[in-house]
Amino acid sequence: MTARRVPIVEKILNANDQIAKENEELLNRARVYSLNIMASPGAGKTSLILQTIQQISSQLKLAVIKGDTAPVTIDADKVSECGILAVQINTGGECHLDAPMVKNALEQLPLNKLDLIIIENVGNLICPAAFKLGTNINIVVASIPEGDDKPYKYPNIYRGIDALILNKIDLLPYIDFNLNYFRKGIQALNPHSQFFNISCKTGEGIETWSLWLMKQVHNFKNKNE
Ligand code: MG
Ligand code: ZN
Repeated sequence: MTARRVPIVEKILNANDQIAKENEELLNRARVYSLNIMASPGAGKTSLILQTIQQISSQLKLAVIKGDTAPVTIDADKVSECGILAVQINTGGECHLDAPMVKNALEQLPLNKLDLIIIENVGNLICPAAFKLGTNINIVVASIPEGDDKPYKYPNIYRGIDALILNKIDLLPYIDFNLNYFRKGIQALNPHSQFFNISCKTGEGIETWSLWLMKQVHNFKNKNE
């Protein structure tokens, strides 16, 4: 019998999925709900996190894990200023988070005291999709200025997500963006995704999204009681 050559990439992904499973089990035991936020740079991940914190931090104890390709702490500092625990992951140039990085970050958090962990992935529409982190849900933040063709150009990131948040909806009157075309693209890839139109600038839609997120956390907590 000849040994099958396993491509290196496949091996790395399998190792990643194994640790993602460990992360998931660790979080389940501690009864902490988690979400992975993916987006291109500038779509508004950090703004969304800051707005969401305002809506839910009086009711849920949360922490933020934030990935960056360089050791800058601007986003993490913004979160810390709100009095929220934040762990910064410097990916050392990698353009995505992987499960081992998240595992290290989880070790720095008091999991038993938390209800929710929000993970801000590295701004990139390609490889974050290939690395499971072990979170309960995965979401993508898109934004009006990025254009309505993104689901057609970067399909992988939208496959299997639980929610799509379309940010900067206040810019819709000024930019040629076909909401139906965009939405059809997402639905073709992923008919089960929730869809939220928001504006971190005006606050539109933030409450609706936050209520949905809180409901997911409560359902998870009740299930794991
Ligand atoms: Mg950010
Ligand atoms: Zn990458």
